[in-house]
Amino acid sequence: MEAAATPAAGAGYAEDRNGSISSSYDAIVVGGGHNGLTTAAYLARAGLKVVVLERRGVLGGACVTEEVWPGARVSRCSYVVSMLQPKVISDLKLKDFGYRAYPMDPAYAAMTEDGPIFFFNEVERTVASIARHSPRDAASYADFENLLERSAEILRPMLLREPPPLGSKSPGDIADLLREGARVAGMSRRDIHDLVRIFTMSVGDLLDDWFEHDGLKGSIASTGVVGVWAGPRTPGTAYNLLHHALGELDGISGAWGQVVGGMGAISGAIACSAEAAGATILTDAEVVSINVKSGETTGVTLASGEEIRAGIVASGAHPKTTVLDLVGDSHFPDEVVTDMKRYRTRGGSVKVNMVLDEAPQYAGVSAEDQGHLLSTGVNICPRSTTSRLPGRKPRPAAPRPIPTSKPNCPQPSTPA
Ligand SMILES: Cc1cc2nc3c(=O)[nH]c(=O)nc-3n(C[C@H](O)[C@H](O)[C@H](O)COP(=O)(O)OP(=O)(O)OC[C@H]3O[C@@H](n4cnc5c(N)ncnc54)[C@H](O)[C@@H]3O)c2cc1C
Repeated sequence: MEAAATPAAGAGYAEDRNGSISSSYDAIVVGGGHNGLTTAAYLARAGLKVVVLERRGVLGGACVTEEVWPGARVSRCSYVVSMLQPKVISDLKLKDFGYRAYPMDPAYAAMTEDGPIFFFNEVERTVASIARHSPRDAASYADFENLLERSAEILRPMLLREPPPLGSKSPGDIADLLREGARVAGMSRRDIHDLVRIFTMSVGDLLDDWFEHDGLKGSIASTGVVGVWAGPRTPGTAYNLLHHALGELDGISGAWGQVVGGMGAISGAIACSAEAAGATILTDAEVVSINVKSGETTGVTLASGEEIRAGIVASGAHPKTTVLDLVGDSHFPDEVVTDMKRYRTRGGSVKVNMVLDEAPQYAGVSAEDQGHLLSTGVNICPRSTTSRLPGRKPRPAAPRPIPTSKPNCPQPSTPA
């Protein structure tokens, strides 16, 4: 495949867009976030004539690199990669289009009142770090990681498949259900028991089962509440911890990485791959309605008033926005409309980007630990997983990667 120019990862990339719009396509993708771009790339590779319509002047959505201050390009929202599927990297040849990620090791660290705890990619090194704080917890940690990894192994294949259609009576759907049933039948009773508990319990309760050190529990619990409107005692947050263990980088399960060029380089590489497969990508193109006539999708209308026709419209905008605002509730069964109105996705994430004159120095930390803290990020953890219980004063949990400190990262290469 002929590679397009290496994307400039976010800002600036939009200026290279081909501004021409045809009035008819096989498929329209609303939104140029990484999921919309990936959809477009696969559809284009399947031979469809595809256009992506992004309302902003920059591609990437929350997976974006932008020049927030003059000369300072930052990953404005998402900042580290792990959940990008190796199959997608390979299918879309993202490395040919400039995607480079380097595993962070330690992946993160937590400052506790007794000094930092580091979470390395090698369990033994993490165990040694925990042992400085709690020999008992150090002895439990490998088994805890093993529990998460065993559970992640069960779930990973499902990430690339449609979920089983519960309730359907069609033969194909029943075959899918049987396939999932057979997988569960192959699990031990203990694994099923553990999986059900992780799906339903709070991350705080899960960690109380395993550990004693509040700083350790607080730092692991932060992954259970990241991105969700929930506290560590909210049922279901143990699954959020497991969810973040499902990713991988360079074959290392659960590893997280820094992306050369910032997270916008992922979106840029996907956009280049989509374009190389024939997709058209337009920015400053806000969709105000997805049009349906007599139950058939006919295309979209842009804020400019222009109509673009296609029999397929895929939307990367929020499902609630897509169904209720862009398509309109009159085109869906009441059940879907009711479910969408009830759909709650209030987020709890705030990211603060800062440009510093020099690397921060952490008080009371050895030179070696200082290096570990700078090479990854620091997770200022709550005092304990119980800190958000009634009567306890909440303390912030704030992941803070410092990407400029990553040494020896090569510059993005220009694909041939
Ligand atoms: C602060 C923060 C930090 C995060 N950190 C991480 C992280 O480190 N690692 C990680 O893996 N994930 C992280 N995430 C989550 C991750 O960024 C998102 O899950 C991901 O970006 C979602 O991608 P998407 O393509 O589905 O949607 P989006 O990124 O939301 O993209 C949707 C796109 O659609 C466009 N759009 C919407 N409506 C219209 C319309 N009507 N017409 C045209 N275009 C439209 C939007 O402008 C946007 O570009 C973070 C999220 C936040 C908010």
